[in-house]
Amino acid sequence: MIDAHNHLQDPRFLGKQGEIIEAMQTAGITGCVVNGTSEADWPDVARLAGQFPDFVRPAFGLHPWKVSDRSSRWLEILQGYLDQFPNASLGECGLDRWMESPNLDEQHEVFREQMNLALSLNRPATIHCLRAWGPLMSELRNFPRLPRLLLHSFGGSLEIAGEAARLGAYFSFSGYFLQPRKAKTREVFACLPLERVLVETDAPDMPLPCPEFEFNKVNHPANLARISRELSKIRKTDPKVFTANTRAFLGE
Ligand SMILES: [Zn+2]
Repeated sequence: MIDAHNHLQDPRFLGKQGEIIEAMQTAGITGCVVNGTSEADWPDVARLAGQFPDFVRPAFGLHPWKVSDRSSRWLEILQGYLDQFPNASLGECGLDRWMESPNLDEQHEVFREQMNLALSLNRPATIHCLRAWGPLMSELRNFPRLPRLLLHSFGGSLEIAGEAARLGAYFSFSGYFLQPRKAKTREVFACLPLERVLVETDAPDMPLPCPEFEFNKVNHPANLARISRELSKIRKTDPKVFTANTRAFLGE
């Protein structure tokens, strides 16, 4: 199993990543995509990728929540990390209208720049989208060509999913969707094209109900095994399918 999206560099996991990876391996997990969120944590993602090269697939991107923290050289620095790690993807980037002061114009500009960078370097891109499906889809429609896309922790409708799938998107399922009130999202995941479905923890965020693993009361990436099992019941398939899909998304 591969965790298609987490934040192992998060300060809540600081200094404990070796121990966490061991727990993941014991649970049958063979790798994870570690997503950076801003210039502040890209060095930490790079460090983990250097320390655990067979396990950590690095991703570097500017998260919509961190858009206002960027320096004037952010894009150049981002490209530097992607050049340094030829196996790195771009992520996470995206659009978010759920946050308090969304700076939408800035978010759109930063999103476009990251999509263009992913295209020019031929890297897959992981997208965060909260309450911004209309704006995101109109952005995507305007690109003459798109990189491989992952809509992580996908909470959109079946209609959005249909169009995104036609644009080549992959979709990942997080443990948060195992909550009773997320039945609608589980129904969407039951209908998505199977070869585009991935599984993720988004740890330390997106906790699942009744987690098997916790780390200082936050979501632990080893919970992927349980999320994967539950998703395989929803899809009536072997969890290995999701691993193969993650590898296809990453171009491995
Ligand atoms: Zn995330």
